Amino acid sequence: MQDCIFCKIVAKEIPSKGVYEDELVYAFHDINPVAPVHILIVPKRHILGIQEMEQEHEKEVGHMFYVAKLIAQKLGLAPDENLNRGYRLVFNVGKDAGQSVFHLHLHLIGGRHMSWPPG
Ligand code: IMP
Repeated sequence: MQDCIFCKIVAKEIPSKGVYEDELVYAFHDINPVAPVHILIVPKRHILGIQEMEQEHEKEVGHMFYVAKLIAQKLGLAPDENLNRGYRLVFNVGKDAGQSVFHLHLHLIGGRHMSWPPG
C-alpha cells in the first residue's frame, strides 16, 4: 500500500534490522524500543489492524504468534520450567490503545520485568 511505512519496510525500501522472514511475515527491531528486546512482527500483505481483520486473515495472524514464539526462544526470552523469564505480545488496536502505525503488527517485548495493568 502506498505511503505505508511498514509496507515500505517489508519491501526493503526503508532499512530495518530484520530478525525473521518467511512468505507471510517479516519481523524487525522497533526503532524506538520500550524494553531491551522490542520486535515488531508484521504480515507482508497490508492489513490495517485487528479492527479490519477478516476470517481470511486468520492464517497470517495465527502465524504471527507462532513466529513470535520462535523469535522469543531464539533471543532467550522463553519462560523456563519454573515459568521464570517471559515476554509480552501486544496488538494496539486503534488510537486510544496506542496504535500509531496502521499496518497490522504484533509487538514482542521482553528482557525486563513488566507490570500490569499497562498504562
Ligand atoms: P503502534 O504504536 O502499536 O502502532 O506501534 C508502532 C511501532 O512502530 C512503534 O513502537 C514505533 O516505534 C515503531 N516504528 C515506527 N516507525 C518505525 C520504523 O521505521 N522502523 C521500526 N519501527 C518503527
